[in-house]
Amino acid sequence: MGSYIQALALSIIGVFLLWFGYTLFFRNIVPGPGVRRRRRSGKVSSGVPGAPRTCPVCSALLAKGERVKSTAYPSMGGKDRLMYISGCTYCLEGDRVRSCPVCGAILKAGDILVAHMYDKPGRSHVHVIGCSQCKKVGKK
Ligand SMILES: [Zn+2]
Ligand SMILES: [Zn+2]
Repeated sequence: MGSYIQALALSIIGVFLLWFGYTLFFRNIVPGPGVRRRRRSGKVSSGVPGAPRTCPVCSALLAKGERVKSTAYPSMGGKDRLMYISGCTYCLEGDRVRSCPVCGAILKAGDILVAHMYDKPGRSHVHVIGCSQCKKVGKK
């Protein structure tokens, strides 16, 4: 009878140790909520304006898959297309200052950059000609 209780106690301790070991193990491989939630502002480095993968509005260096929000209009018979650029995720969320590379004005919410897009084989070239403040165009 005594040995039966002893065995039961030992198996309970064994199960407890196993559970404890699992908790430790999973804590090591699953990052806690504090590790996962990084602040994005300040993490973005600035690229050279006009370079590929650089936002023309705030010059943030964009990672793969991060796109600049823009609207391109159909070509009016010429080689270039009119393009309105709103900005990337960082400056549209207000993390970075949006400014016009042509006149230097700080863009307000709703202001856009006006650009010409030249479709070339391989990759297209975007040339910013101004913003809704210095070109007097854009959404109302
Ligand atoms: Zn941007
Ligand atoms: Zn401008």
